[in-house]
Amino acid sequence: MNPFPIVMSAPSGAGKTTVTKELLARRSDLGYSVSCTTRAPRIGEVDGVDYHFLTEADFLQRVAQNELAEHANVHGRMYGTLKSAVQTVLDSGKHVMMDIDVQGARQFAQAYPHAVLVFLLPPSVEVLVARLIGRNTEDRSTLLTRLRSAHAELQDVDRYHYVVVNDHLEATIDRVGAIIDAEAVRRDRVHALDQQVEGLVERLEQEISQYSA
Ligand code: 5GP
Repeated sequence: MNPFPIVMSAPSGAGKTTVTKELLARRSDLGYSVSCTTRAPRIGEVDGVDYHFLTEADFLQRVAQNELAEHANVHGRMYGTLKSAVQTVLDSGKHVMMDIDVQGARQFAQAYPHAVLVFLLPPSVEVLVARLIGRNTEDRSTLLTRLRSAHAELQDVDRYHYVVVNDHLEATIDRVGAIIDAEAVRRDRVHALDQQVEGLVERLEQEISQYSA
């Protein structure tokens, strides 16, 4: 097994958090990189589980100490991925899932070129707005900020390797799962492939000469 990072990006309200959580709950080959943020926790969110909730000073200190693999200002707050969080999951032999915005994904892909980038699209703007309103965590100005961000984020779709429309949750989970499975057997990720193939070729040659004798 050759674990790799999986970056999931989507406009808020596209269902990325749900899809990521479900995949993590269902698959033992995945781990999550908990991000840092300077935004306040929402009701039910737990420090160290959903995010590491940091003060701006703490966040900037981590940036200065080069602890972050990427960081970005999203909706007026800082978000970033800890290099150590990514490495810990990879070292445990699991693929590491990350939920990061388009600016962060761009930086991350430069630092980790073997990362798989998946963009989740909402099926329609109506569904996106309904999901954001349904969260009950968004006041009018926050909603507007998120819609403007969604507009900007959609311009970046072609930087991603895969695009999945989140029309039905189960189908989306299956599709992202299929992407992970396919990526795990991509030729350039398979460990010691050359030796494996060489071994098979040698054995085949022995069999061929035996049968043709
Ligand atoms: P939320 O505040 O709704 O949890 O997340 C808002 C946005 O921040 C989402 O688009 C999410 O993908 C992004 N985000 C979460 N963690 C990170 C991170 O570590 N880095 C970056 N660049 N964006 C992140």
